[in-house]
Amino acid sequence: MTATQAPAQATFDSLDPRTGEVVGTHPVHDEATVHAAVARASDAAQWWADLGFEGRRGVLGEWRRALVRRLDDLARVVAAETGKPFDDARLELVLTIDHLDWAAKHAGRVLGTRKVSSGLLMANQAASLHYAPLGVVGVIGPWNYPVFTPMGSIAYALAAGNAVVFKPSELTPGVGVALADSLAEIVAGRPLLQVVTGFGETGAALCRTPGVAKIAFTGSTATGKRVMAACADRLTPVLIECGGKDPLIVDSDADLDAAADAAVWGGMSNAGQTCIGVERVYVVDDVAEAFTAKVVAKAQALTVGTEFGPMTMPAQTDVVRRHVEDALAKGGRAVVGGASSADTAFVEPVVVLDVPEDSTAVTEETFGPLLVVNRVPDVDEAVRRANATGYGLGATVFSAARGEEIAHRLRCGMVSVNSVISFAGIPSLPFGGVGDSGFGRIHGEDGLREFTRPQAVARQRFALPIAVTSFERTSTGMKALLGLMRVLRGR
Ligand code: NDP
Repeated sequence: MTATQAPAQATFDSLDPRTGEVVGTHPVHDEATVHAAVARASDAAQWWADLGFEGRRGVLGEWRRALVRRLDDLARVVAAETGKPFDDARLELVLTIDHLDWAAKHAGRVLGTRKVSSGLLMANQAASLHYAPLGVVGVIGPWNYPVFTPMGSIAYALAAGNAVVFKPSELTPGVGVALADSLAEIVAGRPLLQVVTGFGETGAALCRTPGVAKIAFTGSTATGKRVMAACADRLTPVLIECGGKDPLIVDSDADLDAAADAAVWGGMSNAGQTCIGVERVYVVDDVAEAFTAKVVAKAQALTVGTEFGPMTMPAQTDVVRRHVEDALAKGGRAVVGGASSADTAFVEPVVVLDVPEDSTAVTEETFGPLLVVNRVPDVDEAVRRANATGYGLGATVFSAARGEEIAHRLRCGMVSVNSVISFAGIPSLPFGGVGDSGFGRIHGEDGLREFTRPQAVARQRFALPIAVTSFERTSTGMKALLGLMRVLRGR
């Protein structure tokens, strides 16, 4: 047990999915323990809010430097609990630290008190706006990017002046504990970031706990709906970051080498277990053959266990196999791998062409190293198909001339043009989806505001000669106001 964990009754093990070895043993925190953590966090939240933007920036800067110093140690825990290659884990840490830096440096500018125009009718008022912290934010995270994903909420919530209680996935509790411990060393004795560990029930308890001002959830759409339902009881606001079925569109004038590289990296890295990973490719007919040949060559050159690891959650292998089988049964053609590629947790790369759009390989999140490549007559049809799922998280477009124009036609939260997943690494860009992919935003200015309540203040500077919001109001006064309205707004 560590300084950031409370005592608990039962325990569970986190395992290395590559070997099955036990990485760590953690408490299963029950409802009472979660309540106690939130109560402690309330005190820390007050202290933290009182520090102000500059004070918090200093502490978060210290934390950032500490994370850089122990980057490799943390990456080892990430690699052990997820099974991903060490360098992928390090990359995750690098991007996370950059976000933490941005959030800490920009919180004052984005959230601090600012004057706004009071308008002609209310010219006697001084109007100002500021964004106050919410108090205690509950963060529930997934296992696939166990640092980057929850830190999209944690770093921004902290920079905005909140304390956080974090429930990591049951598959990656050690990562959560290591993260919280690294901050605890800097804010000794202040439970600013606490971790509660356990299964879904521990997360559910966090949603029900009084004193939680907001829940930031990242995970599957099915669990997101349960979280929202649990939060409804107390009207606890929620931020919901769920899965996706992200498309990649290849236009006739695209750089095909770069597009193929992006498709294979976007689809296969982290064994395809990326919410914003490429799952569907729509390539325009006249370049389809050349593009597909490049994708096949690159995918065939990958070795599972080297370029990417096993399925972190063993049951996911069955989902991948079912999607491949469905794609093939409906007429798709496997050009790399096949259904037998998904026999063990170490799923081999699979590329299937010409998959009907009603196949589960097109309609449902696969979360494995399966790439569907479908030809389309033109970009209009690519856009139509890209927009035809309930999900709407990210997308990728390869086009020399009209990348941004195509991007604007896509129904999703984020688009990379002529590269893949790049929006996630740009701290000033908001991250989040629409439809079944959820709502609300982490990252960027929107991500900071997400963890605040806007407060509007109107201060009267002088009384107007005509009082219209008073029982002393006269008909002459009203006539004058209406006359002014006709002159000002009636034209
Ligand atoms: P899950 O939905 O299974 O779990 C997410 C978190 O919710 C875990 O911590 C889980 O705990 C917890 N949980 C489970 N049941 C409940 C409940 N009833 N109440 C509260 N919390 C609960 O998702 P995964 O961990 O499997 O993550 C993969 C999914 O996450 C994919 O769909 C992926 O696309 C999505 N994702 C989305 C991202 C985005 O930013 N949009 C980023 C990364 C992933 P436990 O693990 O202990 O069951």
